[in-house]
Amino acid sequence: MVEARGTIMPEFVTRFAPSPTGLLHLGHAYSALTAHEAARAAGGRFILRIEDIDRTRCKPEFEAAIYEDLAWLGVDWAEPVRRQSDHFADYDAALRRLIDRNLVYRCFRTRKELLDDIARAPHLGAGGPEGLAYFGAALPQDAEQAMLDAGAPFAWRLSIAAARGALKGAYDALFFTEEDLDGGARREVKATPEIFGDAVIARKDLGTSYHLAAVHDDALEGVTHVIRGEDLRAAAHLHRLLQALLGYPAPTYRHHRLITDEGGRRLAKRDRAATLRALRESGVSADDVKRRLGFTD
Ligand code: GLU
Repeated sequence: MVEARGTIMPEFVTRFAPSPTGLLHLGHAYSALTAHEAARAAGGRFILRIEDIDRTRCKPEFEAAIYEDLAWLGVDWAEPVRRQSDHFADYDAALRRLIDRNLVYRCFRTRKELLDDIARAPHLGAGGPEGLAYFGAALPQDAEQAMLDAGAPFAWRLSIAAARGALKGAYDALFFTEEDLDGGARREVKATPEIFGDAVIARKDLGTSYHLAAVHDDALEGVTHVIRGEDLRAAAHLHRLLQALLGYPAPTYRHHRLITDEGGRRLAKRDRAATLRALRESGVSADDVKRRLGFTD
């Protein structure tokens, strides 16, 4: 806590949390610069976090490129950098707390089986921010044991019904705070985590998920402001629920526009020409990039 003009103000901490699955492009630069500039304007701290839980898609050379490209852009960050793949035990401990309170259940179903279930009983699912919003339940104990004995892989899903039961009236009174990018207008947004159905919070292949790891780390690192692209706006609904269930503080959210190519399409990792590396190699300067993204000194 720092004291400002006689009132106690919480410190401002924000972060940029890329996944090293490719080279950073202009969209990442916009995100990093937006958060970095917000921290500077607030006299706060900017954190860099490497979100590399998906070991098959993440590569050390992309992590190295993140440090190099950000430094080239003039972005500096607080050390040490947290690398999520070094902390699976933390995410597991958070998951255990949800398991112990019966808030999650094992899901052995494949995507095809989920779709078949939903085709038979439409109330079990609908479209959601991550494709399929599915509402299920644990298998009967003996059936579950048989699957476990057979070594069948499973994901852990967060049960919306169990979360409602645990939070009681507080479930319907969950809100998150969203601010304009400059920290101006604030609004309270009603959290509707059920849009995700019973979200997978520990994937079959990883034992955790982006949602659980990011929410855990934002709390651990004292992030007061989550600043990220509007493609992740929906995630705030689920993250707010995880925060409530795990007893984590609720950060304020700011969502920025997405940078698109000339055709208006969102940039993706495959857009080689828009990578900071390619721009730099073609003689574009960091100042050119900043100007193009609307950051002028
Ligand atoms: N690792 C996520 C990504 O690269 C960022 C998530 C976040 O900012 O919460 O899309």
